[in-house]
Amino acid sequence: MPKYIDIHCHTNFKIFENDRDEVIRRALDNDTWLINIGTQYDTSKKAVEMTREYPDGVFATIGLHPIHTDKSYHDESEIGEGGQEFSSRGEIFDKEKYKELAKQGKVVGIGECGLDYYHIGSTSSPQRELEFIEKQKTAFIAQIELANELDLPLMLHVRNGSLRRAQCKLSSPQATEKNAYFDVYELLKKYSKRINEKGLPAQTGVSHFFAGSVEDMKRFIEIGVYISFAGPITYKPKPEICDYIGVIKETSLDMILADTDSPYVAPVPHRGERNEPVNVSDIVAKIAEIKGISEAEASKSILSNAQKLFNI
Ligand SMILES: [Zn+2]
Repeated sequence: MPKYIDIHCHTNFKIFENDRDEVIRRALDNDTWLINIGTQYDTSKKAVEMTREYPDGVFATIGLHPIHTDKSYHDESEIGEGGQEFSSRGEIFDKEKYKELAKQGKVVGIGECGLDYYHIGSTSSPQRELEFIEKQKTAFIAQIELANELDLPLMLHVRNGSLRRAQCKLSSPQATEKNAYFDVYELLKKYSKRINEKGLPAQTGVSHFFAGSVEDMKRFIEIGVYISFAGPITYKPKPEICDYIGVIKETSLDMILADTDSPYVAPVPHRGERNEPVNVSDIVAKIAEIKGISEAEASKSILSNAQKLFNI
């Protein structure tokens, strides 16, 4: 077994096309396993293909990211293979097509899926905002159903908008109004078979790059959603945006995971560089520091949490 596992990265993206093998080798040679995350059909397909190229230590999830349910978002680094031109395509989630894909490699989860209220800010009108949120919810529910059918955990992407971010620490009922974490919690409770049939604690999924409040974290844990922390926990604390230290201190060690979200948000001391899975050790070290435990204890626990959730 490795020492670390980066439970959420995108070495399947085009930005790694020139040195992908080196990046993967660097992780594997440094005792680090990784899970490549699909964000739409072609990046999901690439992630699955990579599990066949690297049979030991490389896994995949397949799914449709909430921002890709609409045409409003672009990111040039994010293209699957095949040179398809990227302009966010507004994909409609085709459950059967993804189900077929799940048979083609080591698929350990469904997603990334969920709700993103951050990029909604760039849409033109309140009406468009509502439509976008509805599309996201429809795609999310379909992915919860696919996870139910395949009995797999969910890889959750949850992001709040700028209005809500300023209220990150609030936990009054009013504060949940525009809270993507709360809305994801409600949808999971309604649709996830793991929560409803298997009894608690369920292995429902994981909220990657967690940036919610202590209350959001507690609600997730109550329904079997693990909490994964990413590079920003190593940045200078900005509790007015998110109180990572407070959240990490309050989160039980047996529900914590770590992810790089490569190529984004590299942890210190790599901040500003293209991120890669081997850097997950910096995130684990920070979690250990905040929790006041040894790095060995933190990495051991995080690895066993990941093995349990993803059944690897
Ligand atoms: Zn991601």
